[in-house]
Amino acid sequence: AVHDEPGFFGCLSASDGLFVGKPSMDALPAALLGASHRITVQLGTKVTAAEFDNGWRLSGTTLPKPGSSSAADISELGKYDALVLTDVGNLLRGRAGHVAITGQAAVRALAAVSAAASQAERMPLFALMMSFESPGSGLPFDAASIQGGRVRWLAKDSSKPGRERADGRECWVAITTEAFGKELLGSRDATGALPAQTEEYLSSRTDTMFEILQRDLSTIGLTLPAPAFMRAHRWGSAYVGGQPPGDPAACIHSAAARLAVAGDFVAGGGAGGALKSGIAAADALVDSCQQ
Ligand SMILES: Cc1cc2nc3c(=O)[nH]c(=O)nc-3n(C[C@H](O)[C@H](O)[C@H](O)COP(=O)(O)OP(=O)(O)OC[C@H]3O[C@@H](n4cnc5c(N)ncnc54)[C@H](O)[C@@H]3O)c2cc1C
Repeated sequence: AVHDEPGFFGCLSASDGLFVGKPSMDALPAALLGASHRITVQLGTKVTAAEFDNGWRLSGTTLPKPGSSSAADISELGKYDALVLTDVGNLLRGRAGHVAITGQAAVRALAAVSAAASQAERMPLFALMMSFESPGSGLPFDAASIQGGRVRWLAKDSSKPGRERADGRECWVAITTEAFGKELLGSRDATGALPAQTEEYLSSRTDTMFEILQRDLSTIGLTLPAPAFMRAHRWGSAYVGGQPPGDPAACIHSAAARLAVAGDFVAGGGAGGALKSGIAAADALVDSCQQ
């Protein structure tokens, strides 16, 4: 597993400070996008095929609209100078995010990284969001990693800058170990799909996670009051296990195909690794587009 140190993504051992989005994490991409007026983001769209022919011709589907069960096919998403693949699922046939790549130069460039990606194991995690009425949870810390516990990380969201709530409630997030995440996941069906996240599914995971958290806390003499609200959230593929296929802080790049493969599954290291990998991909693609 990638994250076998105590804490979560190096939070307990960070020597150069901890960074959080203010007031929430989506401030980070919003600020990056706001810094450029030349970026258009097309949300709710899944790329399913990409053909390289002196540029990238993309096609895909839109995600189902609320109340509708089927996705709409879009034959043509446009032609682009370069392509960046940012998800390990893009490289794996049969996975939800798979992108069928055609064009000789691109297929050649991807052969090695696709082979490495097929060995990668996707790690599921569950998060439990909880809020407590004033005077709060009573826990004597802002964040903790319970050694030997099934909850790997517990953090007080309300202690982060700008996250105080007007109603005075105190919010916490607990995150499972990989092993406990797998246990909570349930069985995949014959196609490899995860169980549907029905109300019943999520509410049973919520209760189980809270019970296990209480058990973990009791080993250090602590107990939580009943939360005013709690809800489990599933991250079916929170991150990729094993050795990243690329160099840290780098991307895999083909100048001939104007193609880069980037993200945490290439560089490792959570959001920081993903960011550095993205910058490396952008630099490499600017160079290859100018050739
Ligand atoms: C619960 C949790 C807590 C975390 N906490 C931390 C933390 O405290 N610190 C930290 O550093 N890291 C943390 N991480 C890890 C961090 O979120 C990831 O490392 C980071 O988001 C990886 O960025 P990425 O760009 O590589 O991939 P992603 O953020 O996964 O982005 C890939 C994007 O590609 C999209 N995509 C995939 N396939 C397609 C397709 N076919 N068509 C169109 N779009 C597609 C996906 O929808 C997704 O938006 C946490 C992760 C989880 C799950």
